[in-house]
Amino acid sequence: MVFSYLYVHIPFCLQKCNYCDFVSFTNGSEESMVIYSQLLENEISFWQKQNTLGNLQTVYFGGGTPSIMPVDCLAHFLSCLPLDKNAEISLEANPATLNIQKLRALKQCGFNRISIGLQSFHEGLLKSMGRLHDANDGMIMVENARKAGFDNINIDLMYGLPGQTIDIWRDTLRKAIALQTEHISVYGLHLEESTPWGKAEASGALLLPEEDASLAMWQITHHVLAKAGFENYEIANYARPGFACRHNLAYWQREDYLGIGLAAASCWQNKRWVNTENWQTYTQCWQNHTCAPYEEEVLTMGQVLAERIFLGLRLKNGICIAEIEEQFGVDLRTRFYKDMLPLFQNDLLAEKDGFWYLTQRGKLLANEVFAVFLP
Ligand code: SF4
Repeated sequence: MVFSYLYVHIPFCLQKCNYCDFVSFTNGSEESMVIYSQLLENEISFWQKQNTLGNLQTVYFGGGTPSIMPVDCLAHFLSCLPLDKNAEISLEANPATLNIQKLRALKQCGFNRISIGLQSFHEGLLKSMGRLHDANDGMIMVENARKAGFDNINIDLMYGLPGQTIDIWRDTLRKAIALQTEHISVYGLHLEESTPWGKAEASGALLLPEEDASLAMWQITHHVLAKAGFENYEIANYARPGFACRHNLAYWQREDYLGIGLAAASCWQNKRWVNTENWQTYTQCWQNHTCAPYEEEVLTMGQVLAERIFLGLRLKNGICIAEIEEQFGVDLRTRFYKDMLPLFQNDLLAEKDGFWYLTQRGKLLANEVFAVFLP
């Protein structure tokens, strides 16, 4: 087992957003962050002792809010890793936790990609989402990241928000393009019932945009960002040429990856495991250099094949039929022919130069396509 892709989960946030169900706490003191980073080092050294870390091609700090961490802790952790000299080292950031000095320090300690969660430029929406920054903070932090030397910047945006109109969304895209970042991720709002907005929606207290309006926002996004020179290389991700996120590409190509930290997920061939999300358990175990509990799932080859197909179909070029046939020793056409036919007939899936890929309509109804490949 040798991993080239590493995910590090940082479970701290300044404040919980109303739509978020990621594993994160809002009561983390600086002391608990320092302790947590020591535990991450214990966890990574456990894997290093087993010779499971290769030359790391990518490291991705996600959360939570990784930019809330003291930079010294992040720098020390990075210095423990066997990094490839061209490694992509990404950090997710919330504008409310950034300033120019911190951005400079992050750049200096090795981060070469920053992903800033702006979500919107509309003050009312930002407030109702529970974000702690305003539109101006967001724009200034992108400019500051540039000044600090980051030449690979992503911004996250969200559509389908309660109260968001098509005009507001157009304005958001216009402002996003003006920031001249290399990458834009665009997510449709998806609510879990455990979140404040999820509960409000279930009780009828939260009014989401009509389905037609959300669909229009999605279509406008494609049109507007393509015109501005962004390639829609994955369903929700747009990049200027050469700036696709290498870490996330590894997920979509179903490469093996190691996740460390609270609730982090890992994947090795047909095995997947997720670390405990219990803070007490995680800290007690790793303080004693003992592997904290995790939940493991062993997949059948049919499940691995399905994952390989539907993750790959998220990408613009889709999947190389011959490559997957060789990897899994199956004839894809024979195996899925009957179920796939309607996908081609209904313009959801297309074939070109030995690749299957989602059409524009297929991207919209991606879950219907993916269901066909599930065992
Ligand atoms: S900052 Fe990000 S991780 Fe934290 S609560 Fe908000 S959306 Fe969730």
